[in-house]
This record gives sequence, C-alpha cells and structure tokens, in this order.
Amino acid sequence: MKPNIKDLESRVLSVLEDIEHNDNPVRDVLAELWQYNQEQWQRVEQMVRVSDAYQDMMMKREKTLGERFDKHIRQLEKITRISDRYQTALREANLELEHASLMDTLTGLPNRRKMLRTLKREYDHRRQHIKLGMIDIDYFKRINDAHGHLVGDEVLIAVGHLIEQTVGDLGHVARWGGEEFLVVFTHKNADDVEICVNNLVREIQEARFDVLDGQIIQTSISIGLSHYQEGDTIDSLLTRADDALYDAKNSGRNRFHISHK
Ligand code: GH3
Ligand code: MG
Ligand code: MG
Repeated sequence: MKPNIKDLESRVLSVLEDIEHNDNPVRDVLAELWQYNQEQWQRVEQMVRVSDAYQDMMMKREKTLGERFDKHIRQLEKITRISDRYQTALREANLELEHASLMDTLTGLPNRRKMLRTLKREYDHRRQHIKLGMIDIDYFKRINDAHGHLVGDEVLIAVGHLIEQTVGDLGHVARWGGEEFLVVFTHKNADDVEICVNNLVREIQEARFDVLDGQIIQTSISIGLSHYQEGDTIDSLLTRADDALYDAKNSGRNRFHISHK
C-alpha cells in the first residue's frame, strides 16, 4: 500500500520533536534520514523549477521565432504585391508608349511605322490579295498658303477621316507622311477595290470641309493603285503605287491610276 506521505512526515516530526525520545539512538538515525529526505525534496523541487523555466523559455523562443517568421512572410508578401503592381504599371506604360509610337498624333490614324507592320503581316499571310492605294492631296500647299497651317491641319484630319470611312472594312488606312495616306486593301475582289478607289476620289472632291472659323474648304486627291503580282515585294508594290500616283498627278490630278508592270 502506498504510504500517505504527509501523514508519514508529520508522524516522523512528532517523534523527532518529542523530548521523550531524546536519548533513543534510533532518533539520531531517524533525524539523519529526515534531513536526507528533506534535501531530496529540495533537489526535486529545484529540478522541477529548472524544467519549468526551461519549458517556459522554449515556448517564448518558439513564439518569438513564429512571430518573426510571420512578420517576414508579411514583408515578403508586401514586397511581392508592390513588385507586381510596379510590373503591371510598367507593362501598361510600355503598351501606352508603344501605342503612341504607332499612331499619328494629328489625325489619330495609324502612322507609317504601324502601316509597315500591317503591310508586312498581310504580305506574309495573304500577299495575293494586297492592293495598295497611295493617296496624295492635290495642291495642298495652296491651302496652307491661303488659309494658314492650322486650317491645313484641320483639312488633313477631315480628309483622313473621310478616307477611313469610305474604305471601311475593305482595308487599312494610315497617314503615310505629310499630306499622303496609304490604304492597304485586303479585300479579295479587285473590282470592289477599284470602285472604292473611285468613290474615294469622288467623296473628297464633293466634300465641303467646315474647318476653323467656319471656313469651307474644298480639295481633291490623286491615287495610285498597285495590285500584287507574282514576284512583288513590299517595296515593289509601294514603288508601283507611287508611280501610278505620279501618273495620276501628271494627267490632271483628282483621279486614280492603276499601275501595270
Ligand atoms: P501636289 O498636287 O503636287 O501634291 O501639290 P502639293 O501642294 O500638295 O504638294 P507639295 O509637296 O508641294 O506640298 C505639300 C505640302 O503639304 C507642303 C507641306 O507644308 C504641307 N504639309 C505637310 N505636312 C503637313 C501638316 O502636317 N500640316 C500642314 N498644315 N501642312 C502639311
Ligand atoms: Mg500633294
Ligand atoms: Mg505630297
């Protein structure tokens, strides 16, 4: 049977404190055993204290490590978010820049750079359908001279829009430079394209452009048209459209010419 330790201790103490047993030799042995027992208890208590303190320290250490780890993760997440936002902003800025570098700022039409890309793409995929319309405004210098550069700009914008509207989905329109526009027709049917080119000449000639200060300006265009022919390069297509434009100019302007090899 397990002894009741508290009871046993109080019984031993009462024996040791009782003067009646002072001369009993067993008392000294019991006192020594009592002392030894007390020391053992103190040692056990000390060990428990050390063990508790150790556990406490380990728990605190674990907690601080955990907190530091969480903080680190939060910082990493924050840096990742900032970096993601930065990259997105950079990508958007790049796209805007690229877009801006491909548009003509005056007319809002694609510029020559963009058109060369379009032309290359069409040439690589379906060159046999390409027809180029090189357009130049007739006597445009006179408009500038008579009404000023700002009016000239307005006319350029208006002519560009009317060309774009008339071409519709038969092809792509760009401002090629100065007062020149280039149309890359991708529509398969050559007759439809020629009708469109004819319409372009007529539409511009009939248009009355209501520009700055309510001035009404009338103008006309000349067009050189080249069709893809076996062996054509982008360059040769452009040169033939240019040559046809030259012919249209020389034969009186306000008309179109078709290039034949
Ligand atoms: P042609 O019938 O032979 O084409 O005669 P043109 O007067 O149109 O030809 P020319 O090449 O002599 O003149 C073109 C003019 O276009 C000269 C130039 O100042 C003007 N021009 C070019 N770009 C712009 C522009 O962005 N705005 C304005 N207002 N004028 C421009
Ligand atoms: Mg001109
Ligand atoms: Mg010109």
